[in-house]
Amino acid sequence: MTDDLGILINRLSEAKNVVALTGAGVSAESGIKTFRDPDGLWSKFNPMELASVEGFMKNSDLVWSWYRHRVDVINNSQPNAGHYALAEIQKLNKFEFTLITQNVDGLHQKSGSYDVVELHGSIIRNKCFDCNEEFIDEIDSNDVNLQRCGYCSGKIRPDVVWFGEMLPRNAILKAENAAINSDVFFSIGTSAEVFPAADLPIISKNRGSLVVEINPNRTRISDLVDIYLPYTSAEILPIILNELKGIN
Ligand code: NAD
Ligand code: ZN
Repeated sequence: MTDDLGILINRLSEAKNVVALTGAGVSAESGIKTFRDPDGLWSKFNPMELASVEGFMKNSDLVWSWYRHRVDVINNSQPNAGHYALAEIQKLNKFEFTLITQNVDGLHQKSGSYDVVELHGSIIRNKCFDCNEEFIDEIDSNDVNLQRCGYCSGKIRPDVVWFGEMLPRNAILKAENAAINSDVFFSIGTSAEVFPAADLPIISKNRGSLVVEINPNRTRISDLVDIYLPYTSAEILPIILNELKGIN
């Protein structure tokens, strides 16, 4: 075990509250592309056209069909060893564990995590652009046509947070509260470029939490964290899980 891992396991053995903030990198090993990496989604698509209210108003058909394509990719992907390790860490019940994700793909829940705080919504849920009512009709996986609301005939959009939109109030309050009270805070597979999520590790650090970053590439916060682990999430999280299982 490296020194860093030893320090981490030691702190985890005494921790009461542990938080993990995850980003697109956690799903990279499940075959779902990240946004900002060189071959990521934003290198091929214009984020303002596809992930903003203005973009949806300008070309709803294009935006909707792009999301249907992403849902199809997500439905055909499986959680990886990183997702499963996080779910098992939660089930060990060694500490209060809050899993906060910026991902919209539902893979944490699919791997068995519960009470996941979804900061950016879910691509699997849809809602009405006009009246905000949830849209629960089954949509055929091949159907890329824009759907209409049964209440007001408004256009249906994915229930994700677009550029310029507010985060769900409950989710951000829960996340901030967990960050403030954490003894150990993991930032995993996120570039820490998107706010307010990117503030969470800093909030924890200022409250004396041990902040640990897991990311094969250095990020905006790598110099600020207590422990930087330069591994992929599927590589290192199962190792951390195993070490934790060895603690009484
Ligand atoms: P990002 O694309 O900005 O950053 C991804 C980070 O993951 C990078 O720092 C990269 O070095 C790291 N990474 C790549 N492979 C990794 C691996 N195997 N293990 C660990 N880390 C790895 O993504 P972000 O920080 O999550 O950006 C936030 C936005 O991206 C959010 O709005 C989120 O909703 C959205 N997003 C979600 C998904 C998803 O649901 N799977 C996919 C793409 C983007
Ligand atoms: Zn409606």
